[in-house]
Amino acid sequence: MAGRDEAARGGRASARQVARRLESLVAAGVTDLPKRGRRRPPAVTKPVTVAVGKDEQLRVLREEVAACRRCEPLARARAHTVFGSGPATARLCFLGEAPGADEDASGEPFVGRAGQLLTKIIEACTLTRDEVYILNVLKCRPPENRAPLPEETANCRGYFERQLEVIAPEFICCLGTTAAQALLETEEKIGKLRGRWFSWRSAQVLCTYHPSYLLRNPAAKRDVWDDMKLLMAKLGVDL
Ligand code: URA
Repeated sequence: MAGRDEAARGGRASARQVARRLESLVAAGVTDLPKRGRRRPPAVTKPVTVAVGKDEQLRVLREEVAACRRCEPLARARAHTVFGSGPATARLCFLGEAPGADEDASGEPFVGRAGQLLTKIIEACTLTRDEVYILNVLKCRPPENRAPLPEETANCRGYFERQLEVIAPEFICCLGTTAAQALLETEEKIGKLRGRWFSWRSAQVLCTYHPSYLLRNPAAKRDVWDDMKLLMAKLGVDL
C-alpha cells in the first residue's frame, strides 16, 4: 500500500515536472520538439535551437519593418505594415506583391479577395495556411493598389530577403510578375517564368500567376493548378 502511495506521489511529481518544462519551453518560444526518444540525441536538439532562433530573428525584423519610413509617402498613408504570416520553420513560402486595402487595415497578408483565393489554392493542395509562410515584396500598401515602383522594391528588398534567409524554406512560390521579377532579379514576364524551376539561395523557386490575375482571368486557374502539382510533387505532398 505504502509502495503504491509512493508511486502515485512520484507520478504526480513527474507530471508537475513535465508541466513546468512545457511552460518554460512555451515561454522560451520553442515551437517544436523531437517526436520521441527518451534521451535527446544531439542531432534532434538542433531543430529546436534553430526554431527559437528563427522566431526571435523574425520578431526583431518585424519590429524594424514596423518602424520603417524609407518610402515616406507609403509610410504616411499606411494603417499597418504587413510583415508576413506562418511558421518560421515552413518548408514552403508564398511571395506576393504588396498589401491591398484589407491587408493594410488588418496587418495580415492575403486576407482580401485575392487572399481568399490563395487560401483555397493552398487548401486544394491539401495544406493549410498555418503550414506555409506568406509574405510580400512590399510591406506597405501602394496608393490605389498600383504596382510597386522600382525604388520601393529596392527599399524593401533587404526586408523580404532577410525574412527568406531566416526561414530558409526549401521552396518559394512567387505569385505574379512583381514577386518573380523582384526575387529572381529578372525582367522576364510571368508568362515566360511560370511553370519553370529557378533557385534562390538554397531554395527551389517556382513562379505562377497572382491570385488577383486569376480573379480577372479564371481560365488561368488551370495553369496555376499545373504549377501547384509540380510544386506538391517536389514537396512530397500527394494530391
Ligand atoms: N496581393 C498581394 O500581393 N499581397 C497581399 O497581401 C494581398 C494582395
